[in-house]
Amino acid sequence: MSTGRLTVPFNDLYSQYRSIQSDIDRAISDVIRESAYIKGRFVSEFEKEFAEALGARFCVGCANGTDSLEMALKALGVGEGDEILVPANTWISTSEAVSAVGAKPVFVDIEPDYYTINTALIEEKITSKTKAIIPVHLYGHPADMGAVQRIAKNQGLKVIEDCAQSHLAEFKGQKTGTIGEIGSFSFFPGKNLGCYGDGGAIVTSSAEYAEFMAKLGNHGRLGKFDHEFEGRNSRLDGLQAAILSAKLPHLAEWTRKRQGIAKLYSELLQDSAVKVPKIKDEVTHVFHLYVVEVKGRDRVRELLSAEGIETGVHYPRALPFVKAYERLGHKPSDFPVAYAAMDKILSLPIYPEMSAEAVEYVSAKIKEASEAAL
Ligand SMILES: *Cc1c(COP(=O)(O)O)cnc(C)c1O
Repeated sequence: MSTGRLTVPFNDLYSQYRSIQSDIDRAISDVIRESAYIKGRFVSEFEKEFAEALGARFCVGCANGTDSLEMALKALGVGEGDEILVPANTWISTSEAVSAVGAKPVFVDIEPDYYTINTALIEEKITSKTKAIIPVHLYGHPADMGAVQRIAKNQGLKVIEDCAQSHLAEFKGQKTGTIGEIGSFSFFPGKNLGCYGDGGAIVTSSAEYAEFMAKLGNHGRLGKFDHEFEGRNSRLDGLQAAILSAKLPHLAEWTRKRQGIAKLYSELLQDSAVKVPKIKDEVTHVFHLYVVEVKGRDRVRELLSAEGIETGVHYPRALPFVKAYERLGHKPSDFPVAYAAMDKILSLPIYPEMSAEAVEYVSAKIKEASEAAL
């Protein structure tokens, strides 16, 4: 094993660009040549390709992943007075979108080993106001969609899958995003499929929802001036769509590389003080993030940083405990699992272009650091 000092970034978007530079450059110049900046063929081509890649009937691009959640909620008729169940540990967009349509996010604790919504705790949170569940396939590990769908059917609830971290992940062989009523995606640059700015999309098998969301994001119209209602401006732009089309053919290979890196980490870290992520039998994990648990996490982070290794924490505070949700008056014992995870979770560098040497280096250093921090 190498002993020299390496610098390992958390992600490396430039090396990904370099690996497909001519395709990306051509995609960008094509859009410029055609001045197809807003809507147009690059957007509709990408929407078609992305729907096909997932096995979805419809895909509608929009400005970002947060908007896609909000537009999905609107498509399902969620509004003032409704309650929507969301996991306690997720990026704030999930709950923010709920509040943005006037509804109330109701947090549910997460599963200890998988960090996704604990479906055994969903039913006790359901009231007469509950309209929908938003499971988040956090870190790229699908939530238990079998249980989510069963509960939703029994209780008459809708399901929006937050797939911002789970492009191409599968639950029992079915792609995430195609299981609930609507799947919501982000193409933020650092996501598994990312553009060069903000971008998002929704997928659905319902023509009605797809048409509504396409209108909503384009001022309530499909044609030029036929505004049927007041919508908003939330569109995927041509440049981003063309970049996404250039990247999409590589996504399966990039996903395999992420899975390979995760496997190598887990082999190198077995029998250490570092707890490695678990994968449920019925899912395909796409490792947007490789999240371990360590004692003395903040100290470990510092030690790794001193060794040139950049790490992250997703997320330092579970949502019920951030200032934005103080008004809900939650205490740690309301979400014991999410609360306990806050001090232990650590996201290690992972990106398709990461070398085995870098994985070995990070593994060796985190082993040392986790023992030193005990
Ligand atoms: C990134 C992310 C979003 C939002 O995506 P944006 O494109 O940044 O708006 C939503 N949910 C989760 C879980 C995310 O990680």
